[in-house]
Amino acid sequence: MAGITSYGAYVPLWRLSREAIMKGLRGEKSIRNFDEDSTTMAVAAAIDCLKGKDRAAIDGLFFATTTAPYKEKQIATTIAAAADLRQDIITADFTNSLRAGTAALRAALDAVKAGSVKQMLVVGADCRMGAPGTDFEQNCGDGAAALLIGDSGVAAEINAWHSVSSEIHDVWRRDDDEFIRAWEDRFSYSKGYLNTVTQTVTAMMEKAGIGPGDVARAVIAAPTPRIHGEVSRKLGFDPKTQVQPHLFDIMGNTGAAYPLMLLVAALEDAQPGDRLLLNSYGNGSDALVLQATGQIGETGARRGMKVHLETKRIVDDYRIYLQWRGLLVFEAQPTPPGGLLSASALFRDRNQVYPLHGLKCKNCGGVHYPPQRVCPKCRSKDRFDEERLSDKMGKIYTFSADNLCSRREAPRVTAIVDFEGGGRMATIMTDRVLEEIEVGMPVEMSFRKLVSQDGMHNYGWKSVPLRS
Ligand code: ZN
Repeated sequence: MAGITSYGAYVPLWRLSREAIMKGLRGEKSIRNFDEDSTTMAVAAAIDCLKGKDRAAIDGLFFATTTAPYKEKQIATTIAAAADLRQDIITADFTNSLRAGTAALRAALDAVKAGSVKQMLVVGADCRMGAPGTDFEQNCGDGAAALLIGDSGVAAEINAWHSVSSEIHDVWRRDDDEFIRAWEDRFSYSKGYLNTVTQTVTAMMEKAGIGPGDVARAVIAAPTPRIHGEVSRKLGFDPKTQVQPHLFDIMGNTGAAYPLMLLVAALEDAQPGDRLLLNSYGNGSDALVLQATGQIGETGARRGMKVHLETKRIVDDYRIYLQWRGLLVFEAQPTPPGGLLSASALFRDRNQVYPLHGLKCKNCGGVHYPPQRVCPKCRSKDRFDEERLSDKMGKIYTFSADNLCSRREAPRVTAIVDFEGGGRMATIMTDRVLEEIEVGMPVEMSFRKLVSQDGMHNYGWKSVPLRS
């Protein structure tokens, strides 16, 4: 039986207090830092999911989002490269729908069942924007989730599935829209969400031969907390005992990643034998039934939803949020040192840029980054193996803070990091509070957007303080 063999998630460190958006609003929502986007959050979730797994055994990666940083250029390949997966794998992006996450999950499940792959990684990430002042702005959060699909060591079997397609303009963005658009509330809710979800979940339960009482956890990705409560009751689930919390008060609706993130949260608390129901909505609806196996607690230590939600920093200045989103520009961004981006240089150096490969000397064992032909320790030449540094813990050897940088980053912190097991690297430090940085502080590496210029996004690894 095929199903979920591992799971992981990523919630950005930063939460915008809703009080900062409008007086009287309560709770907070997760917001990406200025150097994060759907690609970088997806990498973080993928790596969380793959903890303790052999990355060379993954046969494919499906990526789901409605906020891809490119219209033409695959994102799944960037995530696969940063996660250091093999090159002979299947990759695809699933986009344009809030059901993209569950669509990718269905495709991965079918691929495993058909035997065309053994293990497929499904990653969803989104950072949608509501226009300032709208309910969408209050409700949308940023985040990512990853699920590994396979047929051995299954932690949650996927037993039944039902999908419905529905052509409707209720919530959408045109090709050139920055902000979410929506038709009138009552129409969207009654003819769109409620109608379609009820039809889908009812048909799925009939197919599976179960009733609402047979479900331990109903994971319902509804667009607002009010609708979440209403549809849960209408479907026959007890909101107090059966329904997975919607997390609107601490995170928000994370788009195509939302159903997958709620599912990860449900799996973290699931007991062997528990039956879970997952539902997504977006121009139709997907509903599926999962059942936790005896392996459910055996996926090993990962941050998942719990640790990522518990570790946070509050942003209570709305202007910072607007700046990080690029909606408020205080100044022209200065061109960073290093000159223009070069696609050919990025391609040539791809192993040191995406999976952060350094070199390990075959003669003395010294680890070096960036790669160079002569070992600085023992002077032997061209005798190296590549070694991945992106998943190594490190400590700050020394650091500096520089105010000659863009205002949204100031001061820019450069930290020299010594990796466990050897190797030293000059890094930019992010998700940090300047006053808390000190020599010897433990750090890890995080995939971030370094700069966007010349029509390209340039990604790389920065250092961050440990989340737990
Ligand atoms: Zn050496």
